[in-house]
Amino acid sequence: MRHLFLNGPVQNGPFTFATRPGKAVGIRLAAALNAILGLPPAPHLWNTVTLTGDLRHREADGPKIPRQRFEADLIADKYLPRQSPVGGIMTDTDAEVARLALEMIENNLRAGTLTISRETVPTCRTCGHMTGTGGHPCNACGSTDTGERMGLRLVAELAKDRPVLDRSDIHASHRQQPKHLQHTAGNVAERLILSRTRDHGIDLSPLGLNGLVLDPRVGVHATVLAAARRHQADTAVMTITENAANHIAAHGQHFREHDGTRLQYALHGHLPYDHTASLQPLHEAYRASQAVKDGFEAWFLPLFSLRIKAVTRPDQLPALFKQYMRAHMATLAEVDGAAFEAVQDAVSAGNTEWITDKQALANVMANCGPALATIPWV
Ligand SMILES: [Zn+2]
Repeated sequence: MRHLFLNGPVQNGPFTFATRPGKAVGIRLAAALNAILGLPPAPHLWNTVTLTGDLRHREADGPKIPRQRFEADLIADKYLPRQSPVGGIMTDTDAEVARLALEMIENNLRAGTLTISRETVPTCRTCGHMTGTGGHPCNACGSTDTGERMGLRLVAELAKDRPVLDRSDIHASHRQQPKHLQHTAGNVAERLILSRTRDHGIDLSPLGLNGLVLDPRVGVHATVLAAARRHQADTAVMTITENAANHIAAHGQHFREHDGTRLQYALHGHLPYDHTASLQPLHEAYRASQAVKDGFEAWFLPLFSLRIKAVTRPDQLPALFKQYMRAHMATLAEVDGAAFEAVQDAVSAGNTEWITDKQALANVMANCGPALATIPWV
């Protein structure tokens, strides 16, 4: 298998997909692209290594549930009953992710791109949390008693011979390269500390870094690569917004290739799911069935956000629904196998023009309607 699309791991925060459907765009986009390529469903990826998760677990009432289980229960609650993902769930602390992350760290230590060194970092004197610069109260316990503390840390040196993000890191055609992101992602310190103080994460004690875990911005890359490895894909394409990519790209610089598998980012925009109720009159005018209406929100809008990466405005929804319905009605015409293969090639190459081409979209609906219909809508 050449490509596999995987969602940028979603932060396991306090929401459900029913209340915050926008959180599922990356998952649905990856599912739609995999369906077009005829690939099996990929796992849904989750980011559980967060300070807010630490605090939520510490403050939870009742008997203490082990953290892994606590996170798994919170993830399960995100989905409606009987809608747990066919391809399974993978989190950024699963054993196979941790194994792969440690392998990558060891390779990087050997290559000299990562080092373990004594560093002085701002630390909370009350709870030991690394507070970061800025002199603000500790985010973990609220204490204002912070100071510099020396200790062993895992440190990344940014490569000097190449930018943080270059064209080969982005799954997009030449014309859709995100020049702004390539510029802003490079605006970081030359040395990044990749070890963190957290209750939960990929334990770095095998490297002698006791009590420290891997920075989750690195961990999400290892999660995507582990999922790709499980499916024997050569290229793992992570669906992600530009903001999120900007946040993790530098930390991922030495974690985008392992053992013949490489990771690329496919950027998508934000969608106005809170305003889809305004489509009601159009639904009636087109006598759209529930399945057709669901398809618009479950896979068409996510694909559109790959084509147009800016925020989609609520007032664009009616025109988009008409565009989608015109393609839907065109599927009654004869299926064109060669044209569908051209769409598959475009998906593999990161071209997105076909998404706004009525005939191409109609061919996609005719060829993979049943697979697309399995992408659940809430
Ligand atoms: Zn503290």
